[in-house]
Amino acid sequence: MTSPRVEIDLGKIQANAQCLVRRLGARGISVTGVTKAVCGHPDVAVAMVDGGVAGLADARIKNVVRMRTAGITCPISMIRSPLLSEMEDVIQYCDASYNTEMDTILKLGAAAKQQSTSHDVILMVEMGNMREGVMPENLDDFAARVIATPGVALKGIAANFACMDNVAPTADDMAALSRLANQVEGACGPFLELVSGGGSANLPWALGEGSTGRVNNLRLGEAILLGTDPVTGHPISGLHTDAFALFAEVIETRLKPSSIPVSYTH
Ligand SMILES: *Cc1c(COP(=O)(O)O)cnc(C)c1O
Repeated sequence: MTSPRVEIDLGKIQANAQCLVRRLGARGISVTGVTKAVCGHPDVAVAMVDGGVAGLADARIKNVVRMRTAGITCPISMIRSPLLSEMEDVIQYCDASYNTEMDTILKLGAAAKQQSTSHDVILMVEMGNMREGVMPENLDDFAARVIATPGVALKGIAANFACMDNVAPTADDMAALSRLANQVEGACGPFLELVSGGGSANLPWALGEGSTGRVNNLRLGEAILLGTDPVTGHPISGLHTDAFALFAEVIETRLKPSSIPVSYTH
């Protein structure tokens, strides 16, 4: 077989997904499997689905198309705000998308109506990560506008942590997200089905002892694929950390000092 190559043990990915689905399920939290790190590789996606994830998510529409073309029919969401140039594809291939701009949501709604369907919108809330996100003080008004937009349905809210700053969320952060969910419902009416608390960086909180509040979903990539915590880099107990293996021919193996005396280099 050619080298260098990466071999992927799909059984280990399935087992990691299964373990996380079971442990988080006991805490009332569903798992969305994030496939962007493997460019939507269908075999890896199927391993996640076989492990029991509630759905898949990716940050690139071409990865989603790749999974759909391979016959994957489970719910797939776009976890990055859709580009204005890809609205039709997002409506056609994704059940839901994470959004932060009213302009984008209006265009999604128009594209959904054109395709005689409805698209679920999850609002990404800014919780201090300073990636994309609606500011909490604007969330009620923003949600009301989404609810009034034809062609889309407000499915929930979500937060991102440790993406730009590598700081794990605290119990206070997660309680604040729960309060925001209650507040939006109080202000706008409809029940928020999904309160998505972030990615693998939130596992220490999610698998801890504290109340999970309204948070009922995590979007997990690294923990399923690598079995590690993205903030510390440490293995997560019970997970395989060797599902991916790099095979290459060794051309030299030798212990060398980190520098050599200058006289040898001339
Ligand atoms: C990549 C990504 C995730 C998954 O992050 P991991 O650290 O790999 O679990 C979750 N949410 C969003 C918005 C992402 O872009």
